[in-house]
Amino acid sequence: APFQVVDVHELLDSTLVMLARKIGDDIKIVKDYDRSLPLLPCYSAELNQVWTNLIDNAVGAMGGVGTLTVRTYKENDCVAVEIVDTGPGVPDEIKNRIFEPFFTTKPVGEGTGLGLDISFRIVVKKHHGDIRVESEPGNTRFIVRLPLTAPEG
Ligand code: ADP
Ligand code: MG
Repeated sequence: APFQVVDVHELLDSTLVMLARKIGDDIKIVKDYDRSLPLLPCYSAELNQVWTNLIDNAVGAMGGVGTLTVRTYKENDCVAVEIVDTGPGVPDEIKNRIFEPFFTTKPVGEGTGLGLDISFRIVVKKHHGDIRVESEPGNTRFIVRLPLTAPEG
């Protein structure tokens, strides 16, 4: 499929709606959107998979209670999206492994360990962006940056 030019907030909102049941009533959702962001050329279905993976991880980490913040802003020639949770955080000793395929700390049957690997490939290889994590107990941020230039051109 060719890339589309979309409002990233529509992608984020539709992912939040899709995951509403899983997010539940005891996770507060904070949308900290920069509504003046330019439209983003992207493969929107694949980006939705990235938001789904990151929000699914955030919600899982919080165990049903906490605050999920979805933040957007412009940084140089990129759109930045942060998915922030108030869960226990990513321990330092595994921070450099979580993007590896099949790396998971979840019980067998609950995690495939593929969510961040797939997200990395979609963001970095397909969109020439970057994805990284900054985490301490109570504050974990996955930061995705996507260039405003078209993915292939
Ligand atoms: P899975 O969710 O199937 O375990 P992922 O690739 O999505 O696989 O995530 C890999 C691992 O990264 C998780 O098992 C967990 O240890 C860690 N992780 C990812 N997101 C978070 C988060 N928001 N808070 C704490 N740990 C996280
Ligand atoms: Mg996951």
